[in-house]
Amino acid sequence: MSDVTFEQIEKRYAGRAAVADLNLRIRSGELVCLLGPSGCGKTTTLRMLAGFLTPDSGDISIGTRSVLNLGPEARPTAMVFQRYTLWPHMNVFHNVAFGLKLRRLSPAFIRQKVKDALTLVGLPGMEARQPSQLSGGQQQRVALARALVLEPEVLLLDEPLSSLDAKLRVQLRDEIRGIVQELGITTVFVTHDQEEAMAVADRIAVMHEGVLHQVQTPGELYDRPATRFVADFIGQMNFLSVQPGTSGTLLAGPLAFGVPQSAVGTEVAVRPEDMQFGEQGHPAQILRVSDLGHYREVLFRLEGAPDLAPMTAFVGKSEALETPRVRVRRALAYAGGVLLGDAVPLSAQVVGS
Ligand code: ATP
Repeated sequence: MSDVTFEQIEKRYAGRAAVADLNLRIRSGELVCLLGPSGCGKTTTLRMLAGFLTPDSGDISIGTRSVLNLGPEARPTAMVFQRYTLWPHMNVFHNVAFGLKLRRLSPAFIRQKVKDALTLVGLPGMEARQPSQLSGGQQQRVALARALVLEPEVLLLDEPLSSLDAKLRVQLRDEIRGIVQELGITTVFVTHDQEEAMAVADRIAVMHEGVLHQVQTPGELYDRPATRFVADFIGQMNFLSVQPGTSGTLLAGPLAFGVPQSAVGTEVAVRPEDMQFGEQGHPAQILRVSDLGHYREVLFRLEGAPDLAPMTAFVGKSEALETPRVRVRRALAYAGGVLLGDAVPLSAQVVGS
């Protein structure tokens, strides 16, 4: 088993925590994305797992044994970096074979392993090419082959696609997902691109300012973001500032919500697709409609709520906008930046009575 466990990991630079009290378990065979904005600590986390950096405290284990006293080359890990890191003076064969040669394996065995690895990444028969004769995407495939040929227990990918153009990025991310699934290899994939993370990950670990906020499947992360940061970072979200109403309700202009418990600093969050335009609901003033092909993005204000910031809704082609009225279907409540629970939309009559 090759599960990876971070236990109370801490890494500080000049007194500031780059990674603070990280507890994370990655299951054997799982693809986990470390996701967060620049400076959140994801690369530091990956480098500690690879052995390029030593944590100040805590433990990291692969399977049942701690790897902290092992150097990078002794760990059962292999890494693919962001930029092409092929040796320019060596052809593809020698680039991929390099790590195996250090292990003093037979030439015939090495030839076969390199051949298999190149086939796996979609570059069969490319052994004789020089790196300068390869496209960026092909170079990253060779870098992937060079990592996989070592048969690591854990594959580490540090923004492996960020130097490629958009179309190639999508193609290669799907291929990477296919390959690691086929091999059943435990994979840690660092990215700052949430769409990329949603597309490849079994689970996503969202980090911010050195703190792990949430680890969940892409769907669960999107549906129930555990913190305000995650809610804001993943997808689009409208945050409504609310006032306490009667009998424990919260009011955002004409909108009323029931929450599990009312607290100072509570905010209500609504996804753009959780608002519906139609004949029922609150009159809205439409500020802008952007046609995005299969749906429309509508920026609007609620009538009679001048203090409420404009909101964004995703609206289907068939939803009428002539006499716009909007209804909230689903909302979440956050207090102190942490998910409190559902904010149940209530009709105005219920609140007024
Ligand atoms: P990026 O996507 O920009 O690489 P990241 O999420 O991977 O960002 P890290 O590189 O892990 O973030 O950095 C986390 C924090 O630690 C940042 O505030 C960074 O400035 C700081 N940091 C990283 N390496 C060092 C270092 N060698 N010396 C001082 N501070 C560092």
